[in-house]
Amino acid sequence: MRKRKLLIPQPRSRFYKVICKTCGAENVVFSHASFPTRCKVCGTQLVKPTGGRALVLKDKSEIVAELG
Ligand SMILES: [Zn+2]
Repeated sequence: MRKRKLLIPQPRSRFYKVICKTCGAENVVFSHASFPTRCKVCGTQLVKPTGGRALVLKDKSEIVAELG
């Protein structure tokens, strides 16, 4: 996903709807999660926290929608 140039600064934090590749369940994750978010069904870690923006683990989950 490319970062768009915005004239008006806005918070970059978002919620994403991701699909767990292990079991196919939908999970909602925060883009700046400060803790590892796990799949609610199988417990697979979907998001890796960093100092800032959390990383969605591409081999474990897939972003299907952006919320808010
Ligand atoms: Zn799962």
